[in-house]
Amino acid sequence: MGKFKTLDDLGDVTGKVALLRVDLNLPMADGRATDLTRALAVKPTILELAEKGAKVVLLAHFGRPKGERHSTLSLSLVQGEIERVLSKEVMFIPEVQGPVAKQAIGILRAGDIGLMENTRFWPGEEGNNPEFAKGIAANGDFYVNDAFSAAHRAHATTEGLAHLLPAYAGRAMQKELEALDAALGNPEMPVAAVVGGAKVSTKLVVLENLVGKVQHLIIGGGMANTFLAAKGVDVGKSLCEHDLTDKAIAIMEAADASGCTVHLPYDVVVAKEFAANPPSMRVCNVHEVAADEMILDVGPLAVEALGDVLKTCRTLVWNGPMGAFETAPFDAATVALARMAAALTAEGSLKSVAGGGDTVAALNHAGVAEDFSYVSTAGGAFLEWMEGKTLPGVAALER
Ligand code: ADP
Ligand code: MG
Repeated sequence: MGKFKTLDDLGDVTGKVALLRVDLNLPMADGRATDLTRALAVKPTILELAEKGAKVVLLAHFGRPKGERHSTLSLSLVQGEIERVLSKEVMFIPEVQGPVAKQAIGILRAGDIGLMENTRFWPGEEGNNPEFAKGIAANGDFYVNDAFSAAHRAHATTEGLAHLLPAYAGRAMQKELEALDAALGNPEMPVAAVVGGAKVSTKLVVLENLVGKVQHLIIGGGMANTFLAAKGVDVGKSLCEHDLTDKAIAIMEAADASGCTVHLPYDVVVAKEFAANPPSMRVCNVHEVAADEMILDVGPLAVEALGDVLKTCRTLVWNGPMGAFETAPFDAATVALARMAAALTAEGSLKSVAGGGDTVAALNHAGVAEDFSYVSTAGGAFLEWMEGKTLPGVAALER
């Protein structure tokens, strides 16, 4: 991890304008946010800057307006939610640059908070247009990025501004980068990676990156079927990408060459139809799957063995559920392994970092999201980081 500045490096910012990039892309229904996770994540940074006496100006995107104003995608729609989360008044500013923005920011007093309009109303945002970024930077004294979830995009407010103003990582960004560094950048070894989910095709680069970095690669979920098929196992009518068997073999060979053990399930839970508690459900060895059966979860013996693997490890990075966890009882392996990881984390023998939309849902379902060392809600940015990519928003802070 390169070095980046944090709020600890700020001098006296009384009366200075902080341009703070946050993720306020809240899921909405009937004018109310259905989940406040993103707003809560950036609350500490907003309040810390306000307490330090800065004029805090929030920059965020909302939905996909594709460079045009849309009244239904105005950030004014979440202004009330942000005020409730912060227990503070927030002034809405219907522009991001130009005289209106300048005048509005001029009204803010030290410690006040402003919320600018949806940055994606202007094509310069996603185009990372330098003139657009300059127009925004003209009203600020320094830039803080607290939106890791948008850091895989080189946009004007996620990347461009960092070149124009003194740039700092906010507290949420800092926490995320430190957790990810401890999981894959500079981890305590041995490291185990759990990769599950539906398809190999969506996580090919993740798998290729991980085999060179971790000592144990645990493959579960639908993607395990592709690996099993590549080894000559008949997976019946399981979800399987037969066209990727060559890639699967290449990944297993690369793992061999770099001393990474690949763990595939040897017992599985199968059923003839995909439904909750189907009567045809049974547990069997992977070599006994019938032509009309599909694999829907990792079996109990394999889960126990995987728990033993985790006991020998110091670090765990997890993306993707082990089975079709939304439908009972195909959540069993995911829940059991997640609870083992949580227990080892509580004992202090394992640092556990997880991310991915369905993974977060699965850990919540297992009731252990709070017990992992860190759970990333960043989606695309988390996956690109698992792929070993440099995230432009992070690189710009590290210069
Ligand atoms: P994430 O969002 O955490 O990155 P993915 O989107 O890659 O995870 O995968 C999650 C999906 O994979 C879930 O909807 C789950 O039902 C599905 N899945 C897991 N195991 C299987 C399986 N054996 N067969 C079919 N689908 C599966
Ligand atoms: Mg998903």
